[in-house]
Amino acid sequence: MTGSRIDPETPTRPIRLADVKSWHETVDVLVVGYGAAGVCAAIEAAQTGATTLVLERASGGGGTTAMAGGVLYLGGGTRVQKACGVDDSPEAMLRYLTASTPDPDPEKFRLYVEGSVAHFDWLVEQGVPFKDALHTERTTQPANDDGLFWSGNEKSWPYKEIAKPAPRGHKVQAPGDAGALLFAKLHEAALKSGARIQYDTRVMKLVLDERGAVVGVVARQDGEDRAFRARRGVILCAGGFAMNDTLRQRHLSRLVGRAIPIGNPYDDGTGLRLGLSARGAAIHLDEYHITVPYYPPGSLTYGILVNGQGQRFIAEDAYHGRIGETASRQPGGTVFLIVDDPIFGRPEIDGFEVVAVEESIAGLEKTLALPPTSLERTVELFNRNAAAGTDPILHKQPAWLRPLTEPPFAAFDLSFGKATYMAFSLGGLWTKSTGEVLTEDGEVVEGLFAAGRNCCGISRSAEGYVSGTSIGDATFFGRLAGRTAAARRPEGRNA
Ligand SMILES: Cc1cc2nc3c(=O)[nH]c(=O)nc-3n(C[C@H](O)[C@H](O)[C@H](O)COP(=O)(O)OP(=O)(O)OC[C@H]3O[C@@H](n4cnc5c(N)ncnc54)[C@H](O)[C@@H]3O)c2cc1C
Repeated sequence: MTGSRIDPETPTRPIRLADVKSWHETVDVLVVGYGAAGVCAAIEAAQTGATTLVLERASGGGGTTAMAGGVLYLGGGTRVQKACGVDDSPEAMLRYLTASTPDPDPEKFRLYVEGSVAHFDWLVEQGVPFKDALHTERTTQPANDDGLFWSGNEKSWPYKEIAKPAPRGHKVQAPGDAGALLFAKLHEAALKSGARIQYDTRVMKLVLDERGAVVGVVARQDGEDRAFRARRGVILCAGGFAMNDTLRQRHLSRLVGRAIPIGNPYDDGTGLRLGLSARGAAIHLDEYHITVPYYPPGSLTYGILVNGQGQRFIAEDAYHGRIGETASRQPGGTVFLIVDDPIFGRPEIDGFEVVAVEESIAGLEKTLALPPTSLERTVELFNRNAAAGTDPILHKQPAWLRPLTEPPFAAFDLSFGKATYMAFSLGGLWTKSTGEVLTEDGEVVEGLFAAGRNCCGISRSAEGYVSGTSIGDATFFGRLAGRTAAARRPEGRNA
């Protein structure tokens, strides 16, 4: 799979203010990129009365957000959770999220959790619909319009023991993928707020004053390079870098050739490079979300995942992202899903081949060329414990335990590099919770903000990624960045 590369013809080296001959436009707040983060930043900035202009490279808005499932990770007692009888608290949500990464940003996590219910209400005020219905089946996201589901590892070990589990995946009310509806509603709200949007406008460079503060951008529009001045701030919301071959090779090399990069074609890291060009620092560039979406059907969760030694390595009731990350790190990437007859079902997504069907586990072991007796021993131990309702080593929850005893037995190939693995980037600019971009020394880059996958947000670990944290934090912190930028004292020259 190939994407764009860093083009030597388009360096992001900034322009000095003194070299700007004329400004094409001057506004208070400039937003670069019009996806989840950009639209929310624009709404909040414009609502303060600040003149707000969004520059978007594509011919329409939405970016990766409009391709997405439309799931937002929210909790602590939202309207949908309450209507569905779910007992959740900000404390439980914070404990869960904090456990999901080795590097939780305490301020961002606290604000996100404390503001989660209000953020949900704000989305509803903007016209984003959510249905008060809990989806109980195990799935990557509800195929129908149910508004709430288990979108992470909350119910699986070890998280279950760390924080009281609650479903927090809030899906916008639409069957199938709902990201387009989410964006459409937010776009309507942005237009009402007075924000202006200019499409087919590719931001190429930042403009810096003599102190290094960001005071504008240069963008290619109508075949010309035009300078746009931002009196109060530039907010980078240009998405991640999953589609850039050079950056992927540099930062996510273990995925290259093995996981399909997903996102819109302009997830090419330009936003990241713009931030770096103004002395912004980047964090967690080697982190990503990886998925191996072999379920639904949920019945496959009763199966066991084994590596090339015929050994289990994870509780199979974990979230598909955690399974994807752990599976991809098995020796040689070799992974098989072993099932018996009653639980067999075809994965809804292509790319999970049945590579063996046999009347016995010993036969399966032979066909898969696993070490002699390895799979037999694994299944024998699993079955014995499952019959007793326990999984003492990997802690699969009792609800998903049943012995694999009924032939024929089958093996799906889930090997990394063979089966369908998909990934996008999680790392990005280092920001304060206000969106202000920080330098390597932890100083604020004056006039520069970032939100969404242009920066590193709540979701920052492949092992702990949860569906909904990406759009959840892009919308939440996009809003905060919009408000903060709009409130900033105009500081550029001649302001
Ligand atoms: C198939 C799929 C499903 C997903 N489902 C979910 C989900 O349900 N929940 C969830 O939380 N996450 C999901 N994700 C991840 C999530 O969609 C993204 O991480 C999130 O939408 C990013 O939002 P953003 O605002 O940062 O970027 P985007 O929505 O991608 O917006 C960035 C915008 O910037 C523009 N841009 C880029 N460069 C420039 C430039 N130089 N000048 C001007 N404009 C520029 C782009 O054209 C784009 O419109 C999914 C991802 C994929 C690929």
